[in-house]
Amino acid sequence: MNAIPSVKLIDGKATSARVLAEVREEVLALREHGIQPGLAVVLVGSDPASQVYVRNKVLRAEEVGIRSLEHKLPADTGESALLQLIAELNDDPAVNGILVQLPLPGHIDENRVLQAIDPLKDVDGFHSENVGGLSQGRDVLTPCTPAGCMRLLHDTCGDLSGKHAVVIGRSNIVGKPMAALLLKAHCTVTVVHSRSANLRELCRQADIVVAAVGKPRLVDASWLKPGAVVIDVGINRIDEDGRSKLVGDVDFDSALAQAAAITPVPGGVGPMTIAYLMKNTLAAARLQRAGATAE
Ligand code: NAD
Repeated sequence: MNAIPSVKLIDGKATSARVLAEVREEVLALREHGIQPGLAVVLVGSDPASQVYVRNKVLRAEEVGIRSLEHKLPADTGESALLQLIAELNDDPAVNGILVQLPLPGHIDENRVLQAIDPLKDVDGFHSENVGGLSQGRDVLTPCTPAGCMRLLHDTCGDLSGKHAVVIGRSNIVGKPMAALLLKAHCTVTVVHSRSANLRELCRQADIVVAAVGKPRLVDASWLKPGAVVIDVGINRIDEDGRSKLVGDVDFDSALAQAAAITPVPGGVGPMTIAYLMKNTLAAARLQRAGATAE
């Protein structure tokens, strides 16, 4: 029997559907004023996983009424050609959001490309202007995965003020912005990573655990205090029982014995990421409109 019988599954699929419905409603309202937000998605090369991600983003954009503009470039595209495209997209008033699908081929400097995107069109929130703004607690375009995690946490816990959150992982894409968002929500935040000592003990003190590591089922019940809320960002493909499957960084079955609420993998954080990309595109369109009216 579970120590906490009323474990709550945090349903990212259902929440992302609500977020997308909210975005769609706002996009339709804008379109009545003759404005249609546009998202440019840039893919360099033909990595199969990246192709699937790009296709899903384009489909989702169309579903919510956002115009999507796909730019598929060959794998041997030079950095200067890519920077030229970014410059054109920055200047194009029909483009409100620019997403460059990562990873880029090795001969292209990823940082230089991300820094070339207009911060007001940076729907991934990776430009240093937005990273700095987030760490100052300003309202800026914020990386989609941590933004989606925050929505799940607010919907599950309400006010997060004073809660102790442990973030496992310190990547620029998930761990660090997640920590900044939790701080902004008045949590006490501990970030642990591959060099941290006493990981399990630190985790056991947490009201909220966010695992963004990339290690299948690293976190089990022994890492959790009873009643912890667990957000599992990890997506790991493993072979088990003769078949390939996706699992998170949390051992879901074990964690159920301790957690008050937990996200499944798949169906937890994953769908929220794409929903927040749409939300960011809408936010970017509004920011650019506000900027244009202020000039
Ligand atoms: P990353 O490899 O950039 O960073 C992993 C972090 O985990 C590093 O900071 C590292 O220090 C830490 N780490 C590694 N081993 C550790 C250990 N044994 N104990 C504690 N910390 C350890 O990865 P990322 O881009 O942050 O992604 C993390 C996971 O989240 C991956 O599984 C990735 O596929 C997944 N992800 C999911 C989504 C989504 O939409 N659900 C989005 C982005 C990433």
